[in-house]
Amino acid sequence: MKNNQVITIVGAGPAGVACAVAIKHLGIEPLLIEKHKIGGLIRNANLIENYSLLEQNISGKTLAKKLEKKVKDRNIKTLFQNVKNIKPGNQILVKTNKKTLLTNYLVIATGTKARVLPKSVKIDKKANKNIYYEIADMPKQKNKTIAIIGAGDAGYDYALNLAKTNKILILNQNAKPKCNTTLLNRVIANQNITQVKNVKIKSIALAKKGIQVNTNKEPILADTIIVAIGREPNLPTTSKAILKNKNIFVIGDTVNDIYRQISITSADGVKTAMKIFKNYEQS
Ligand SMILES: Cc1cc2nc3c(=O)[nH]c(=O)nc-3n(C[C@H](O)[C@H](O)[C@H](O)COP(=O)(O)OP(=O)(O)OC[C@H]3O[C@@H](n4cnc5c(N)ncnc54)[C@H](O)[C@@H]3O)c2cc1C
Repeated sequence: MKNNQVITIVGAGPAGVACAVAIKHLGIEPLLIEKHKIGGLIRNANLIENYSLLEQNISGKTLAKKLEKKVKDRNIKTLFQNVKNIKPGNQILVKTNKKTLLTNYLVIATGTKARVLPKSVKIDKKANKNIYYEIADMPKQKNKTIAIIGAGDAGYDYALNLAKTNKILILNQNAKPKCNTTLLNRVIANQNITQVKNVKIKSIALAKKGIQVNTNKEPILADTIIVAIGREPNLPTTSKAILKNKNIFVIGDTVNDIYRQISITSADGVKTAMKIFKNYEQS
């Protein structure tokens, strides 16, 4: 059975939620589809300090709760399903893991996915259960040694977050970190965090207790590993036709290259809602 929607938004991160709230405010009922949890990637953030509209600094999880409340308060219809395919056409066909629907306008706000370690790094299958790519859904870590592979903003942010209850090793393949100065200064001042420089990861194996990271230097022992070596666009389809369809809009982190911030991604959502509304009114 195919449902007919005017506007469907895939992804309930800051971009998708901003778009849904704005379009509803303009008088059109959106359908929001989210495969995991409302809030998206920001659920991983230790502390949001650079968003000028927030009176106080809050954690990413707290912001995600606010977005969740907004969606609920505004009665925005939300399906918790995974969009598996999109077929552009006069009406756009959206296939989830549970249903197929048709929509006049489609907003794709599916964010990014974590870059995985290169194939040259051999990973023992049994060690996989101790390797994470994001921290929001990790089981609570306490009194553990956690190795973070990657020395960018995300790696440093994860380190500060997890160092509240654990010992952290940041493994950097270069001599200098690629994170911003605010995060770097906090990491330097934090006694629970050690930065390990010029370390090349060769393989990851299960050890007697935890896991062993084999490197160009001494092996490193840890209970848990977090890989934070960058992110890449995440699209629910590989079809290039979606980029040419005038009624399909790809927004937010998915298309914003290195400019990945909630202010930018939310503004994308609002601007797209206004564009669609204008188009809809004229049709
Ligand atoms: C550690 C960390 C700290 C950060 N700190 C800050 C900060 O302090 N300030 C700041 O401005 N930004 C920060 N960011 C960046 C911010 O999180 C992102 O810019 C923002 O979340 C991007 O929003 P988005 O809606 O474009 O994408 P996302 O937040 O990635 O949301 C995409 C959503 O789409 C869903 N989705 C994906 N595929 C499908 C599918 N096929 N079907 C259905 N749903 C799907 C996902 O589950 C997700 O909920 C941080 C990021 C990280 C990792």
